[in-house]
Amino acid sequence: MFNIVIFGPPGSGKGTQSVKLKEKYRLVHLSTGDILRDAMAKKTPLGVKAQEYMGKGELVPDEDVIGMLMGVLDENMDSNGFIFDGFPRTEKQALFLKKNLEKRDTMIHALLTLEVKREELIKRLIDRGKQSGRSDDKLSVIENRINVYHDQTAPVIEFYQKLDKYYPVAGMGTIDEIFDRLCGVIEEVK
Ligand code: ADP
Repeated sequence: MFNIVIFGPPGSGKGTQSVKLKEKYRLVHLSTGDILRDAMAKKTPLGVKAQEYMGKGELVPDEDVIGMLMGVLDENMDSNGFIFDGFPRTEKQALFLKKNLEKRDTMIHALLTLEVKREELIKRLIDRGKQSGRSDDKLSVIENRINVYHDQTAPVIEFYQKLDKYYPVAGMGTIDEIFDRLCGVIEEVK
């Protein structure tokens, strides 16, 4: 298996690039944001709970996200590998992922981090909010999500730096330019 984490602040282009990467490398795209939004739409108990946090731009509690991920991992162990998008978002989630992949005789091969300036992130998220109507893409919530990223999520970088799996990638430019940069790193580590 070949597993990567696509990482970066909200609005950095993780979802967009994941779709292209999953096609090229035939990976399973596991987006915790998408799974949570789906649970919200279906009003499952997890969805109802997640709504409270997501609406404010806060993280959904680790236990809930971890519990949700366990099943999806096992369902896809016969695949070529995963692109984790939106996970891990805390050190606790990173440790969980490491242990659980080890148990299944695999690992994360690279944490690809899209680097984008704050002003550009805010601009992209406001535009996305206008198009998609996503309730967390409005200015007050966007600013909180970026702050949460710096406070709770950025420490995940250090976790992968210690494992020698951290790869920063410039997230500015066209979608194809950024995709080429990501593929360049993947070809190196594959
Ligand atoms: P973005 O990267 O643009 O913020 P996501 O779709 O990845 O969008 O996440 C949207 C929201 O879903 C987050 O702000 C958070 O509330 C929740 N969420 C997604 N993944 C996780 C996770 N791994 N742990 C906790 N909360 C999460």
